[in-house]
Amino acid sequence: MEKLRNFINGEYCDPTTGEYIDNYEPATGKVYSLIPNSGTEDVQKAVDAAEKAFPIWSKMSIDERSKILVKLSEGIAARMDEFTKAESRDNGKPLSLATHVDIPRAVSNFHFFATAILHFASESHNMEGVGVNYTLRKPIGIVGCISPWNLPLYLFSWKIAPALAAGNCIIAKPSEVTPYTAYLLGQVAKDAGMPDGVLNILHGEGHTVGDAIVKHPKIKAISFTGGTKTGEYIARTAAPVFKKLSLELGGKNPNIIFDDCDFKEMLSTTLRSSFANQGQICLCGSRIFVQRGIYDKFKAEFVKRVSETVVAEPNDPKAKLGALVSKSHLEKVLSYVKIAQEEGGTVLTGGERVLLDAPFDNGYYMRPTVIEGLSYDCRTNQEEIFGPVVTITPFDTEEEALMMANSTVYGLSATLWTSDLKRAHRMANEIHAGIVWINAWLVRDLRTPFGGVKASGVGREGGWEALRFFTEPKNVFVKY
Ligand code: NAD
Repeated sequence: MEKLRNFINGEYCDPTTGEYIDNYEPATGKVYSLIPNSGTEDVQKAVDAAEKAFPIWSKMSIDERSKILVKLSEGIAARMDEFTKAESRDNGKPLSLATHVDIPRAVSNFHFFATAILHFASESHNMEGVGVNYTLRKPIGIVGCISPWNLPLYLFSWKIAPALAAGNCIIAKPSEVTPYTAYLLGQVAKDAGMPDGVLNILHGEGHTVGDAIVKHPKIKAISFTGGTKTGEYIARTAAPVFKKLSLELGGKNPNIIFDDCDFKEMLSTTLRSSFANQGQICLCGSRIFVQRGIYDKFKAEFVKRVSETVVAEPNDPKAKLGALVSKSHLEKVLSYVKIAQEEGGTVLTGGERVLLDAPFDNGYYMRPTVIEGLSYDCRTNQEEIFGPVVTITPFDTEEEALMMANSTVYGLSATLWTSDLKRAHRMANEIHAGIVWINAWLVRDLRTPFGGVKASGVGREGGWEALRFFTEPKNVFVKY
């Protein structure tokens, strides 16, 4: 069986622990590779390498750094087929999604930050007759980047690309559930001419190697994307030692649909915003609020379309949904269907596991699920499920929709469907979210701030926000 390896100091190596963890293929439910169960000694080895590399990388001209990162981006694009197949196999997502979304986006992430750094500028503040201040933006040093399983290389690269562009050295850890494309990335970085020790990729579990990254005194900043509970733990651990923190956490996003929307466009986008990537995107709109005037029409057409949605093995070109990422996650999502029923909800379609023919009979498939009849404040409508499960709830007024939308602890994104321009702006202004889409969903411009409020996180990624996070400002004053 294939054994994945850590990437430290420009070389692939075995974990010092000598231990490995099973890596499952969600489509079949079978173990298909082994990943290093790394520990504190591996983190130390990576930090030693990063410390040696930092003066080389941080003092390299921006032009040269940029060229290496552009090559890295091109290196992934050149191996597109291998990367897309690996991502789909590791995660269970349809191959078409990995091909059209995940890997092209990883290519763009590197290209975007490779070129953004060429334009990144710092400020100067003149004090008339007194002197001038100028602000330097220095790389932080060694930073830790920890990412989740839902969009593996997409989110891994979204962190490490700006960190590298800004001149930092990195200790990165992909999710132990989906390590494969991060494993492939080491070689691509080496081929692109990345100096040894600049990018170190460690595999293993969160509570062991992840924790060791968060605690290591020489790792000065942590950029984390994952669950709110993990974020809470990381914040508690890193705050007393004054690490810079960026936390992109969970969501329970509202999708608010008014009577006056473009029904056809809303319906097809709502199918995607509910179930893309098996509903495992932090931006999926899992609480659908529909204005009373079109509620019955929406319910009938949405449920029909959802019940016709094809769930199939990831390589099947007809697959709209593939497998969920793991057995435990499938069980968690199914448990919420039970909770919803106990809370008085009615399952309108789905709600059960899908059993495909061999060799996919042990895969983690589930029917996309629509539930109605729940109060806005029940557990199903307040807790993050992170799977192919949505609730539909009618509303009458704008105020009521806003109250229900803002009722959770989360505040990542929101979607609004209306043709009333004033209402759209009014709602966007009032809604608790870091990102609002009006008559659209998941349209991403990499220059815009990305992140959430409340329990959805602290800080923003994207554009200048990311480059600011991965640099320390130093103000210098010169007297006239
Ligand atoms: P998770 O929190 O379980 O794990 C995320 C990463 O953190 C993994 O690499 C894991 O190994 C590591 N980790 C776990 N415990 C750790 C610890 N104690 N110390 C250090 N690292 C640790 O999350 P997940 O299940 O992989 O991902 C799903 C979650 O991620 C959902 O809540 C989803 O909403 C969230 N998410 C948020 C965004 C966003 O941009 N806000 C994007 C994608 C996913």
